[in-house]
Amino acid sequence: MKELEDIIRLQIAIMSKASCPQCHRIILWSVYSNLCNICDCERLENDFSNWTSDNQQVDEFIKELQLRVADYQGNVVEWIPYARFENITPIGKGSFAEVFKADWLDGQIKKWNYDVKQWERVGKMCVALKVIGSSKDEFLNEVNE
Ligand SMILES: [Zn+2]
Repeated sequence: MKELEDIIRLQIAIMSKASCPQCHRIILWSVYSNLCNICDCERLENDFSNWTSDNQQVDEFIKELQLRVADYQGNVVEWIPYARFENITPIGKGSFAEVFKADWLDGQIKKWNYDVKQWERVGKMCVALKVIGSSKDEFLNEVNE
């Protein structure tokens, strides 16, 4: 119980309230992220016409998740083009899927940079890629889990 109290206290210490530089709503601000879910949703929505998986059902699913980014505490589900991965190496084949490791050149979104008006990303990171069946349903089942 004491440990839990310490963790809560630590989180309060690193999170503080501030006003969003864009919409001026009061948001939680930490050294790691600037989470204004309302502005983040708008930015993702404004970008909808700039990417596609070439599969309408998959696109709609990703868009739906992006509009609910607040539910995922800033973890954004994105469509990443194959060309943004390097060093794709097989690491195993399970009974259902083939798995590869790869370097994702950009890395996941860290936060919005208000100065350059772009997402700040963590940079090159190692990720696991899983080959799933070619049917939409298989993809959607996989992501839904
Ligand atoms: Zn905002």
